[in-house]
Amino acid sequence: MSITCKFGGSSLADASQFQKVAAIVNADPERRFIVPSAPGKRHDDDTKITDLLYLCHEAIRQRVTYDEAFGLIADRYIDLAQWLDLDLDVEDLLGHLRADLERGASVDYVASRGEYLNGKILAALLEAVYVEPAEHIRFDADGRLDPVTYELLGNALDGEGRYVIPGFYGASADGEVKTFSRGGSDITGAVVARAAGAKVYENWTDVSGLLMADPRVVSNPRPVEEITYREIRELSYMGASVFHDEAMFPVREVGIPIHIKNTNDPDAKGTRIQKTRIPKDHALGGVAGRPGFTMLFIEKALMNQLKGFGRRVLEVIAAHDISYEHTPSGIDTISVIVSDEELAGRGALLLEEIERTLDPDRTELLPGLALIATVGEGMSHQIGIAAKLFSALADAGVNVRVIDQGASEINIIVGVEESDYEQAVRAIYHAFESDGSGPR
Ligand code: ASP
Repeated sequence: MSITCKFGGSSLADASQFQKVAAIVNADPERRFIVPSAPGKRHDDDTKITDLLYLCHEAIRQRVTYDEAFGLIADRYIDLAQWLDLDLDVEDLLGHLRADLERGASVDYVASRGEYLNGKILAALLEAVYVEPAEHIRFDADGRLDPVTYELLGNALDGEGRYVIPGFYGASADGEVKTFSRGGSDITGAVVARAAGAKVYENWTDVSGLLMADPRVVSNPRPVEEITYREIRELSYMGASVFHDEAMFPVREVGIPIHIKNTNDPDAKGTRIQKTRIPKDHALGGVAGRPGFTMLFIEKALMNQLKGFGRRVLEVIAAHDISYEHTPSGIDTISVIVSDEELAGRGALLLEEIERTLDPDRTELLPGLALIATVGEGMSHQIGIAAKLFSALADAGVNVRVIDQGASEINIIVGVEESDYEQAVRAIYHAFESDGSGPR
């Protein structure tokens, strides 16, 4: 059996980090499929290589010089090759990158070069076979991962020995390089683990796994040792940043567990993500949330009797190519919650259109909403969970503006004023964790 390891940007930020990575890979002969991100930040004020590549592309688009950003990129790769004493002509690869920029290569192509170059370096360091993602990871016409990828990649990874497959990109059917969304090397890692039939997908980062709450909001949150695919999906979507929110799909379908580990502390337990967990004494999997949502509120008398009203509201939103988060409703009201990023200032415009086409009695735009998800497998079929959650918020003096519970029953979402966000997260966390257990 083999292990697929993905190393994040901070795990590959400089030569000493690369050496840690090599030691981790060499420590277990089953670690045969290695997926690198591009070099990340070496310190707080540093810039990720991927961000510098986007800068270069933008500079060219605006016809201004990109020499400074390119110089920073080149220096980092030259440094890496020198310090690691590699038999690799990095200058030549950088020359190609400059030529690609000059010929006006696409933004995805340019952004993918961070992983491409890091893949070349890591393959040289680990004496591994380099596998080109653009040849083996395929997107379909809708920009989704084409399942043919598993066969293509599976064939390429079929031999003995070690392989390095750069993260973050593949190609569309016509061969054009295309990236996943930001942080997408996590997805490549999952795709590789599945294609290689790995027994575990190790995701190496710079923290010892997931914490039950954001440590910037809650002090010393409890580490999570085990969590399910469903829980991590909800938590990462709502803001827990350790793992890309789409990255568990490829492995979940075939039941490969994910293990989040710390490159800087390889012996730390980390977090295991799998199909089930026994929520013995931990009803709560975690609390995550973020500010930056707006609610579109629509009221119309006897809405409950109108057939297709909700559908038509959502059609207006879809016609603007906007995706929504939640649609809490009452007998005469429906609200649609949209992230501000997605809404991009078009809230009033949408409501105008809804007024024109659907003739509601009242509409209101309610910005400044923060959403908080309280997630846990142990929450379904348990009496008292909601009571505990809402008493905690009431005791903290937080006004709950909206409530939504997913049908999966592992998730209760509350919407609060952005200014109450941190207070609310702390109140929820402590309500479930103060006695060290949560409801049983
Ligand atoms: N380098 C890419 C990014 O910064 C992808 C990744 O690191 O996962 O988004």
